[in-house]
Amino acid sequence: MSGRLEGLEPSKVFRFFEEICSIPHGSYHVDEISRYLEDFAVKRNLKVIRDKENNVIIYRDASEGYADKPVTILQGHMDMVAVNDDPEVDMDVTPLDVCHDGEYIYAKGSSLGGDDGIAVAYMLAILDDDSIKAPALEAVFTTNEEVGMDGAIALDAGLLKGKRLINLDSEEEGIFIAGCAGGIKMKAGIELALLENGAASEKACVKVSVSGLLGGHSGEMIIKNRANAIKICGRLLYDICGRFDVDFVDIKGGTKSNAIADKAEFEILVNSNDISGLKVVIADIEHEIKNEYSQKDDGIKIMVSESSLGERCVFTGSSLKKLASFIMAMPDGVQAMCGWTEGLPLTSLNVGIIERKDNIVYTYHELRSQMGSSLRNLNKSVTAIADAFGAVCENSSQYPEWEYRESSPLRDEMCRVYKEMYSVEPKIEVIHAGLECGILAQKIEGFDAVSIGPDILDIHTTKEKLSIKSTERVWEYLLRVLSA
Ligand SMILES: [Zn+2]
Repeated sequence: MSGRLEGLEPSKVFRFFEEICSIPHGSYHVDEISRYLEDFAVKRNLKVIRDKENNVIIYRDASEGYADKPVTILQGHMDMVAVNDDPEVDMDVTPLDVCHDGEYIYAKGSSLGGDDGIAVAYMLAILDDDSIKAPALEAVFTTNEEVGMDGAIALDAGLLKGKRLINLDSEEEGIFIAGCAGGIKMKAGIELALLENGAASEKACVKVSVSGLLGGHSGEMIIKNRANAIKICGRLLYDICGRFDVDFVDIKGGTKSNAIADKAEFEILVNSNDISGLKVVIADIEHEIKNEYSQKDDGIKIMVSESSLGERCVFTGSSLKKLASFIMAMPDGVQAMCGWTEGLPLTSLNVGIIERKDNIVYTYHELRSQMGSSLRNLNKSVTAIADAFGAVCENSSQYPEWEYRESSPLRDEMCRVYKEMYSVEPKIEVIHAGLECGILAQKIEGFDAVSIGPDILDIHTTKEKLSIKSTERVWEYLLRVLSA
C-alpha cells in the first residue's frame, strides 16, 4: 500500500501519516506504534522517553536564535478508534487501506484515525526536519485517549519543562479550542426480585423496541435535546406498570456511556387479553413523543412484537415498577447553560447504556461540566437519586475540566499569526466535551494551551475523512506559529 499518498502536499506529513497507517494502532493496541515512535527518535539522535503506559516524549533543541523562546509542547494521541464495516476484520492486526480522492484521505471500509494520526504525522515531520525553525520542543504522544485518556492521566509532567502547549486533536480548521468540560462516568445497579413459582405461564411475552433515533456524541450533541431511547423505555414502562399486570423479563439499550442511546428494547410478560390495550397505550405514547421531538429527532419508532420467554428468569412487576421509576427520576440532558458563553451547556448528563446481568439492571451515565463544582454537585444528585431507589452507584472514571483562561499569551500569539495569514480572526471556542488538555492543565503549573487541527469529518466512524487542503494549511500555519 506504500505510496498511496505520494504526490500530496505536505509530502513529509503525508509520508509519516501513511507510515503510521501501516501499523495497527487502535486504543489498547499501542505497543507497536509506541515502539515505532521511540525508534524514530533513536534513529535521529533525539532524546526520547517512553513510559509504562507507552506514552512517548521526544525532545528537540531550540533552533539557532530561538533559545530565548519558551519551550513549546506539541501534543496529540497515538491511539485511534478502530472500526471496520466488516465485523470479520480484526483491526488489531490489519493495517489501514489508505486512499484519497484528491480532496480527502480516507481508509477503505474502516475509520482512518486522522483523529489523531494527523497530529502524530505533523509532529514527526517537524522533528524530522532541522530546517524548521522552532523553540525547544517537547513532542508528547499519549496513549488510549479514546478510551478514558489513560496515557495523559499516567503521564509524568515532571518530564516536561514547557508550559505552552499546542494540542493537535481538534477537527475543525479555524476554530481554536480554549477550554473543555470535565466528566465523570457513573454506573448504577438496581436489583430485581425474582418472581416466585418461576414464569407465569399463562402470560404472553412481548418485546417493545425503540429505534430510529439520531443519537450522537453526548458532549457535542447534548445541546440538541435529542431523544434518548433508554429514557423512552422508562417512560413506556412507567405507564405500562401503572395500567397492566405485568412481569419483567429483560431490558437493554445503547452502546457507550458517551453516546446518546439511539435504540433500546425491553421484554415483559402480559396477560394475553391485555395485549391489544397495551398496544394502544404504547401507540399513544409514541404519538406524544413524536410530537415532542418533531423537527429535532424525526425518525423515532416504537415497535411491539411477540417474543418467547424460553428458559429465562422472570422478575416481579414491583421490581419493574421500581426500575421504571428510577429511569424516570434520573435527570438526563442539559442541566444548566453557561452564563459566559452563548449556547454552551454548563452541565449535562447522558444515560448511554442499560443492561441486565442476572438480577441486576445497570445503567451507565456520562456527566459533564465546564466547572468542577457543578460537576461534583451533579455527581451527588445522581448518587442521591440512586440511593433513594436502593440502587448501588459508583464513579468508574473521571477527568478534569480545562477552564477557559482570560489571559493566554500563547492564544494571543496564535491569533495574531492566524490573522496575519488569513486576514480573519479565528473562532475561539470552549467545548462541552473532554480533551487531554484538562488532565494536563491540572499537572502543569502556568499551563497555557490552545487546541487546533485540520478538518476531519465523521471521526470515529468508517466514513472518517481528512481534508488534504486543510491539512496543508494547518501545517503551514503551525510552522509559522513555531517560527514566530
Ligand atoms: Zn482525538
